[in-house]
Amino acid sequence: MKCTICKHGETVDGFTTITLEKNGATIVFQQVPALVCDNCGEKYVKGEVTSAILQKSREIVASGVKVDIRDYQLNVA
Ligand SMILES: [Zn+2]
Repeated sequence: MKCTICKHGETVDGFTTITLEKNGATIVFQQVPALVCDNCGEKYVKGEVTSAILQKSREIVASGVKVDIRDYQLNVA
């Protein structure tokens, strides 16, 4: 798709890292599938991927963990 930020680039499949801070806990998801603009580098993450990450982060926070770094492909998808 056309990038909506720079309006010039085309998005290509890639990966990004998402960091969430919730209730004093920091949770990092690496290797999250995303569409990346080949011009400005803006990253677009699908709604279903975001939902899965938010759901997983709630579980992690509920378990009492304060800092957690995990691979999206291995732990969420
Ligand atoms: Zn762009």
